[in-house]
Formats: sequence, structure tokens, C-alpha cells
Amino acid sequence: MPIKKTPAKTATKAPVKKASNIKPAKKAVAKKSDAGTPLSVIIRRRIEAQKARFHANDNISKFIQPGELEGLVDEVAEKMQAVLESLVIDTESDHNTKNTSQRVAKMFVKEVFNGRYIEQPTLTKFPNVSRLNELMIIGPITVRSACSHHLCPIMGRIWIGVLPSKESALIGLSKYSRLTEWVMCRPQIQEEAVVELADMLEKKIKPIGVAIVMDADHFCMQWRGVKDRDSKMVNSVMRGAFLKDSNLRRELLSLLDKR
Ligand SMILES: [Zn+2]
Repeated sequence: MPIKKTPAKTATKAPVKKASNIKPAKKAVAKKSDAGTPLSVIIRRRIEAQKARFHANDNISKFIQPGELEGLVDEVAEKMQAVLESLVIDTESDHNTKNTSQRVAKMFVKEVFNGRYIEQPTLTKFPNVSRLNELMIIGPITVRSACSHHLCPIMGRIWIGVLPSKESALIGLSKYSRLTEWVMCRPQIQEEAVVELADMLEKKIKPIGVAIVMDADHFCMQWRGVKDRDSKMVNSVMRGAFLKDSNLRRELLSLLDKR
């Protein structure tokens, strides 16, 4: 879809779309009184009415109605176009950047930051019938995220250690990846991301212990700033038995070392 050029200084106030361009799905959602109000403002009002938080690493899916993600893509594209214009890029004659604003908007909303806008994947839990209570390690799970300071990629790996109790509910192995992806597909900082993932797993599985180790390249250190190509960040969260029992912690870390 071609993006209409709008002068940079009025772009933030411009309505997302003219009424005549609204697709049927969006028409059902937008109220008459909302005409001309950017969709992001409408969503923001719903969040504020519930006094909820909407930081970069928060999921706001319950405030978004069906069909609205497309509207958000269009709004972001329009503002992204203004950014390109402010960067003095001739998107009209440069064929490479002609649809860049639309591509970037779609990438943000539907792909790399999708974990903010879609609901948590359903995690089918099943009882621990064999009453397993041995250390399980899941990983490496590939992590693709972005820092909330520069929106630069964070690429890395995660290992999850779980010590289930005989009463724990277990989740399928693939669900660890899906949950990790959902948490990581948001702008954030690594330290907070691992804590959020650990909280979620504790709540779901109710294990005796949960441990998360994350090892990642931060492109804001490599692409810009100090431009240190080899800088990595490794951090871990230890909960329950992994915190109290140093033998268990050693067992986990020695198994990870061998990978
Ligand atoms: Zn950064």
C-alpha cells in the first residue's frame, strides 16, 4: 500500500486514515466520537482507564480489539514516513526506501514487538504422572529481542532449568520456546526479561526451583556506542531450590558449561 506523504511537522497530529479508507474490520471497532483520533490514543485511553502500565516490555493485548493491529501498523507507517523525511531521505525517487515506512511499521507491530500486542500463548499443562523430580534443562532457546534504550537487536540464547515437585503441573517442551519468544518480542532490557520469564514459569509450573541463564549479543554495543564486537551479556535468575542449594546450582551450571 503506498504511503501518503505528510509534512513532518504535522504528522503527529494527522488522523491515521480518512474515513473513506477505513477497512470494514476497523469500521466495526471505531466509534463515531473517536473519528479523527489516532488509534494509539484510543488504546492508550483504555489502558489509563484501567490504571494499567504500558511500558515497552508490557503486554497490552487485552486493550486491543480485533482488527486494530492493522490500524496500528498504518499509524506507525505514517509516523515512520515522517521520520524518514526528517532524515532527509528522498523516499519518492529512491526505490529502496519507497515502502520502508510500511515495512518497518509491520516489522515492529506484527513481528519483532509482537509480544506486546498478542495474548500469551496457551500453555497446556499436564499432571506430573511419573512424579518426576529430577533436574530438567531446556535449551538453548534462541532469543531475538531489542533493547528499549535504542531499539537495537539483542540476539542470544536462553537455558531454563526446572526442578519440578511431584505435584507440579508440567508444560510441553515446545511451550518453553513459545513463552520465551512471547516475552522476548518486546523492547526491553535483558535483566528484566529473564525475571519476567522466571516469574511466569514459577506461576505456571509451581516447581521447587527454576533457573534461567541468558547469554546475548547487544547490538547497541556493537553497531553503535563503544562498537565492541565481542561484548556479550550473561545473566541468570535463580529461584527456590536453585537459590538455596549450591549443589543443584553447580550441577546446572556444569551441565551448561558442556554445551
Ligand atoms: Zn541499547
